[in-house]
Amino acid sequence: MNNEDLWQASLARVQLNISPANYATWFQSTKILSNKGKEIKIAVPNNFSKEWLENKYDKLILSTLHEIDNKIKKVKYEVIHSELKTKKSQILPETIQSEFNEFKTDKYTNLNPRYLFDNLVVSSFNELSHAAATAICKNPGNVYNPLFFYGGVGLGKTHLIQAIGNEIVKNFPNKKVKYIPAEKYASGIVTAIRTKTIEKLKSQYKSIDVLIIDDIQFIAGKEKTQEEFFHIFNTLYEKNKQIVLSSDRPPQSISLLEERLRSRFEGGMISDISVPDFETRLVILETKLREKNINFSKDILEYLSNNIKTNIRELEGALNKLIMYQKISTEPLDLETTKTLFKDIFSKSIKTCSPKKIIKSVAEFYDLKEKDLFNVSRKQEIIKPRQIAMYILRDDLNCSFPFIGRKFNGKDHTTVIHAYNKICKEIKEDERLEQEINLIKQKIYTI
Ligand code: ADP
Ligand code: MG
Repeated sequence: MNNEDLWQASLARVQLNISPANYATWFQSTKILSNKGKEIKIAVPNNFSKEWLENKYDKLILSTLHEIDNKIKKVKYEVIHSELKTKKSQILPETIQSEFNEFKTDKYTNLNPRYLFDNLVVSSFNELSHAAATAICKNPGNVYNPLFFYGGVGLGKTHLIQAIGNEIVKNFPNKKVKYIPAEKYASGIVTAIRTKTIEKLKSQYKSIDVLIIDDIQFIAGKEKTQEEFFHIFNTLYEKNKQIVLSSDRPPQSISLLEERLRSRFEGGMISDISVPDFETRLVILETKLREKNINFSKDILEYLSNNIKTNIRELEGALNKLIMYQKISTEPLDLETTKTLFKDIFSKSIKTCSPKKIIKSVAEFYDLKEKDLFNVSRKQEIIKPRQIAMYILRDDLNCSFPFIGRKFNGKDHTTVIHAYNKICKEIKEDERLEQEINLIKQKIYTI
C-alpha cells in the first residue's frame, strides 16, 4: 500500500469517529510526509493543527494506522506550509490562514510583530492581566516574577505575552527576549538530550533576559523537560531575569506538574483572562474592522457578538469570513446574507454542547479517561470530576437527575442530587473550583 492509499484508508476510518466539522477542520489538509515503517510523519498546515492533532487526535490516528498496518508504532506531525488548503465554509481554518499570511516572526526573539498592546482591546475580562503585563514591561524582572497568565482557548493569552515581548524589545533594545511555545521548548530539550547538546541549549536559555513560554501546561507529565526547566527557571529567577508563562489553567489545576515547579509558578503573580462580555466583543470587532479600514453595519456585528461568546479567535475568524465575502460581492453585506453565511456553523456550535461533549471535556480537563468517570471508583481524584460532570449536565443542559444517574452507570438519582447540591455549594465557597468549572465550560463550548 502506498502512503496515499494508507492515509486515505485511515482518514476514512477517522471520519467515522469524529464530527464532520472537526474532520473538515483538522484533517482536510493533511497527508503522509514520510513512512519509516515504524514511524509515520504527517504533514499539517500550521502549528495550530499540529497542536490539535497531537493533543486530541494522536491516539485515534495512531490506532487507526496501526489497525491497517501493525508495524506502525508512532506518529509524528510536521508543519508544511505549502499544504495549506482550507475549506471556505469553516470559521477556524480561515482564521488560521489569515494569521498565517501575516506571520513574520522575528528570527531572534520568535515574536510576531502583529501582537501589540496597541491592538489589544482591554476591558474587565483582561484588565488585571493587562495591567500586570504593562507593569513588567517598564521594569522587567523586578515587579512580578514569574508572571503567569491563564485562560481558555482563543482569549488572547498568546497575544498578551507576545505584546509583552514586543514592548520590552522596544523599551530595552539590548535585552535578549525569547518567546517559545512550551511544546517547541519541550521538543528542543528532547532533541538536545538525544544529540548530547543539552548543556549548550541550557546555557543558551540561561543567557536570556526575558523568557516567555506559551502554553506551559504542555510540559506536564514530561519528566525530563520539567527537570531541565526547573534549573533554567531557577538560574533566570536568581539573576532577576523576567519569566512570563501562559497556560490554559492555573498552576494548581495542572495535574502531572511537578510540585516544585508548581510552587515556583505560584511564587510570582498569577492573573487570569476571562471571557469578554457582549459590549467588549463588539468593541473587538469594531477595532479589527478599523485596522482593516472596513465597515459593516451594527446589526451584523451584534449578530456575531451574540453568537460567538467564548472565543476571540473565532470571533475574528467569522469577521474575516465576512470581509472575504464582501470582497467578492458587489452588494454591501446585510444581516440576512450574514445569517445565511453562518447558518450551519452557528447551529452546529449550539449542538456541540451535548452530554457526550461535557463528559469528554471534564475527563480531558482532569487527565482522566472517559470511562474512569463511569467507574465505581471512590478515589477522590475521580469522585470530584464525576460530580462536576453531573453538575454541568444539570446546569447547562438541564438534564433530569434520573437521566444523569443512568448515564453514570445507573447511579440512583439521589446520588446525583447530592453531587449537584454539593458542587453548587462549593462553587460559592471555593474560587478555584469556580475557575475550573468555567474553564471546562469554555472547553465545552469551543468547537
Ligand atoms: P490564546 O492564546 O488565548 O488561545 P490568542 O492570543 O491566540 O488566544 O488570541 C486569538 C486571537 O484573538 C488572536 O488573533 C488575537 O489577536 C485576538 N485577540 C485576543 N484577545 C484580544 C483582545 N483583547 N483584543 C483584540 N484581539 C484579541
Ligand atoms: Mg495561545
